[in-house]
Amino acid sequence: MPPRTRVLMADAAGIEEAARLLGGGGLVAIPTETVYGLGCDATDPRAVAGLYAAKGRPSFNPLIAHVPDVAAARGVGRLTPAAEALAAAFWPGPLTLVVPAIEGATSELARAGLASVAIRVPAHPVAQAVLRAAGRPIAAPSANRSGHVSPTSAAHVLADLDGRIELILDAGPSAVGVESTIVDCTGPVPVLLRPGGLPRAAIEAVLGGPLANAPPPSAGAAEDDPAPRAPGMLASHYAPSVPVGLGIGEVRPGEALLTFAGARPPGFEQAVARLDLSPAGDLVEAAANLYAHLRALDGTGARAIAVVALPSHGLGEAIADRLRRAAAPR
Ligand code: AMP
Ligand code: MG
Repeated sequence: MPPRTRVLMADAAGIEEAARLLGGGGLVAIPTETVYGLGCDATDPRAVAGLYAAKGRPSFNPLIAHVPDVAAARGVGRLTPAAEALAAAFWPGPLTLVVPAIEGATSELARAGLASVAIRVPAHPVAQAVLRAAGRPIAAPSANRSGHVSPTSAAHVLADLDGRIELILDAGPSAVGVESTIVDCTGPVPVLLRPGGLPRAAIEAVLGGPLANAPPPSAGAAEDDPAPRAPGMLASHYAPSVPVGLGIGEVRPGEALLTFAGARPPGFEQAVARLDLSPAGDLVEAAANLYAHLRALDGTGARAIAVVALPSHGLGEAIADRLRRAAAPR
């Protein structure tokens, strides 16, 4: 992390610098019409892991991929007929659409392992300019520490994230001040996942029928995560096809092994395949490697994947959360 966070006016030079930093995997707070977003390259798992770390998120929530127009959105997800209709009516604007993801167009970590992707085209001219200059989807949750309220000014962002991100682009206060409305268009009937800046009635008028309602939020929903989520809602998170054992004491025959910081648990030698999330013991690197390593070990034909215990500080908590989901019986 850089020692100090720069704040630049959102003029042409500031926008160019923001795009340059984003292209290099940096973290940049950008103004949007809803709230200030903390942006990073959505295709780069290292950048995304750094973003989760900067926010101090206890879990890897799926992030919204921001793009400048509907053509770019079609490169990130498969827009269903309902999504196309809503995009035509309300983009750019405070509406996020969840659609089937185009594999490889955003990193799995940005999607928290889901096969769907949330996409938004923001209307703010500075966000538009940064997205066009960056030329790639930008993941951007609100630019605050986890558990704090969403920021609607550069000063709010600085108070929360000084020293944890490279740059804040200052374009004055956000106009809307509440997050985008999120509609899930992956099923037969579009579902309102989160009420937000665009009213339900406007969406239903375009759809010609009612939106379905998401199940009520689960008890454990994060404070800064207003999207309703039920236990089943995230069931499609990536999970290996074989059992996953967590915090294992020893490796048994036929098992693949996932380690951290070069750990060598008993039975280490007999693992059918071994991968280390971060030989150097870096939790940001471990988060960036998580999904790819699980997938690789799942593809080895091992009968199970044994995972060593990880540190519980920093991103360790989020990694453990995702591993627990991967390990949950289905
Ligand atoms: P925000 O914190 O405003 O960036 O909003 C992100 C919200 O979008 C999260 O709380 C997620 O619940 C929701 N979201 C993002 N991607 C997906 C997805 N693929 N499926 C369902 N919800 C999603
Ligand atoms: Mg937020």
